[in-house]
Amino acid sequence: MENCIFCKILNKEIPSKFVYEDEHCFAINDINPKAKKHILVIPKKHIESLAQVEDMNLIKNLFEAIKNINKQENIKDFKTLINTGKNAGQEVMHLHIHILAD
Ligand code: AMP
Ligand code: ZN
Repeated sequence: MENCIFCKILNKEIPSKFVYEDEHCFAINDINPKAKKHILVIPKKHIESLAQVEDMNLIKNLFEAIKNINKQENIKDFKTLINTGKNAGQEVMHLHIHILAD
């Protein structure tokens, strides 16, 4: 998707270090961290938000990735957050799950 910051990161048009990658998704450190560890888990497919998800297998894949990332990063206690829609504070209109850990 053009003009989508996360699609640009995925396509290497914007440099960013992937902390994790699998078939379905990738993860990066949030540029403006709100916890000691603040990771964004992002599906490779451009989907605007949770409200647009039809195939719930995608959500399963994202939470499987979260388990893998937390194991890799030695994160045991954490919060997950999905902002859905501008009125709920979604800034980047490409679905992503925040992992927040102190
Ligand atoms: P949300 O408000 O749920 O849409 O969250 C978007 C998140 O993306 C915010 O926490 C931003 O700090 C983060 N963000 C925006 N641009 C970048 C970027 N280039 N690299 C990493 N994180 C970003
Ligand atoms: Zn996108």
